[in-house]
Amino acid sequence: MTPALSTWSRNIAPSPTLAVDAKAKALKAAGKDVCGFGAGEPDFDTPQFVKDACAKALAEGQTKYAPTPGIPALRKAIAESYAARGFAGVTEANVVVSPGGKMSCYLAILATVSPGDEVVIPAPFWVSYPEMVKLAGGTPRVIAAEDTTGFKVTPDQLRAALTPRTRMVVLNSPSNPTGAVYTRAELEALVRLCVEAGVWILSDEIYEHLVYDGQTTCSPATFSPEAARLTITVSGYAKTYSMTGWRLGTLVAEKSLAAAVGDLQSQISSNATTFAQFGALAVHQHPDKAKAALAEMQVAFDRRRLMLWEGLNAIPGLSCYRSQGAFYLFPNIRAFGLSSADFAARLLEEELVAVVPGSAFGSEGYIRLSYATSDEVIRKGLERLARFCGKLSA
Ligand code: GLU
Repeated sequence: MTPALSTWSRNIAPSPTLAVDAKAKALKAAGKDVCGFGAGEPDFDTPQFVKDACAKALAEGQTKYAPTPGIPALRKAIAESYAARGFAGVTEANVVVSPGGKMSCYLAILATVSPGDEVVIPAPFWVSYPEMVKLAGGTPRVIAAEDTTGFKVTPDQLRAALTPRTRMVVLNSPSNPTGAVYTRAELEALVRLCVEAGVWILSDEIYEHLVYDGQTTCSPATFSPEAARLTITVSGYAKTYSMTGWRLGTLVAEKSLAAAVGDLQSQISSNATTFAQFGALAVHQHPDKAKAALAEMQVAFDRRRLMLWEGLNAIPGLSCYRSQGAFYLFPNIRAFGLSSADFAARLLEEELVAVVPGSAFGSEGYIRLSYATSDEVIRKGLERLARFCGKLSA
């Protein structure tokens, strides 16, 4: 007889974004002409100077264990870049380099959330937050926003969700899956409530460099000394420098919390891949090259965003909020009367277009499309989506 799997395994759903991506990639490998809008993965190559720095480190034998929270030069460079952006007093002791932004989020949650604690998560949310909270024994408490409010939650909603058991509030601007970007005033109002309640703030800023229409981003940790003490800022290199497969995340937090995160990481994974960290270090050592690589992607993403947004809104029955960040659009499909899962499954089956159902992000009635894909795929995908929606409406 095979012993049962753990309750964790049985209660945790696999990542739907990665599942859609795997399905689309398998269909492509089988020779199908799939238009993939599934996973949020830039279609650019990692900049050559980053790859060169990693290859050099590999050739020089940087293949051993590194200090768990990261190689000293990279932690120092990360601390300096945050200090330059207004993170008061941040040094390498506040920084942990982890095996991916996802790991940074999970370790932040593990280090702060105990069984019975509640974590407030605004929806639409990135798929993994609630599952990570559950893995820590906590309870996700979801507050929902719709396209009518630009997918942003209000201070009143947050106030109503805070209880004596609240331990953490998750903020994610620019947002995955909606691309919504909170203004500084909007974020300040939410952060003020968190400070009053004395709860941790997990600020997932992995899309911090991907904003359009003249938008800017800001970090809760820079708002006040109290906010700095309570905020765990997560980011990484994957989305900004097209380094998804490198698995390099960052975390900045108050020193004792950063140390606790490092301790957890020492038991769970040890350091992020040593030679990969030297690639990331090159980003900090060559800011002009990094800026140029990022600018190229920003221009392409912005063009694709507008192309996709206009194309989606031109399809009768679909309506799409004009988001200003990340590389996602989150159109409303309610007019078609199908669940988002059915809509996405039929779209893949009938038209070979891969999207992620809104239900995966806690928001029924929407689908997510990533425009981190080629102009050609966007054009073709829109034609197929229009044909599919036409069939549904006929
Ligand atoms: N974060 C990306 C996405 O949402 C990659 C997949 C994942 O880790 O969820 O598509």
